[in-house]
Amino acid sequence: QHNPQTFPGTVHQTPGGGILTSKLNDLINWARSNSLWPLVFGTSCCAIEMMSAASAKYDWSRFGFEVARATPRQADVIIIAGTIVNKMAPVLKRLYDQMADPKYVIAMGACATSGGPFFYNTYSVIKGADHIIPVDVYVAGCPPRPEALIHALMALQEKIRNGGERTRIDIGV
Ligand code: SF4
Repeated sequence: QHNPQTFPGTVHQTPGGGILTSKLNDLINWARSNSLWPLVFGTSCCAIEMMSAASAKYDWSRFGFEVARATPRQADVIIIAGTIVNKMAPVLKRLYDQMADPKYVIAMGACATSGGPFFYNTYSVIKGADHIIPVDVYVAGCPPRPEALIHALMALQEKIRNGGERTRIDIGV
């Protein structure tokens, strides 16, 4: 499934073989983008779709999101799938702080991006994960389909390959 067009180098053909030239930073970003380890952070219904994206039918490992981790110390991208209540906010912040740099954040679904159906008249729900930690990719939907999450992960890969600047990416809006 890997697209060789994304490899950041040039092959110069020579008699009997070839020489590959590239920049070290580009190679590091390319390798990093293809070996993301997601930290699972499913708090409600969106988590079902996240699990589906990791399961055999969608199999996000094909794209380089290898093994989902349940510990922040072994993860470099957190997928926030579900509602974040006030009591959960300090836990989310602590998990983010414990992840190794460089680290990335995907807010999956209406709740994680904005509070979703709990935006109005709810005292207990955070109105978007970006009130707690910086978010790289926002995925619309209630819930988003697994394809949308994989789209978000691939958009994040592209961003990392381009240097990983903290720019906002919106999926499905
Ligand atoms: Fe559930 Fe919708 Fe909120 Fe996702 S966005 S956690 S599906 S209410």
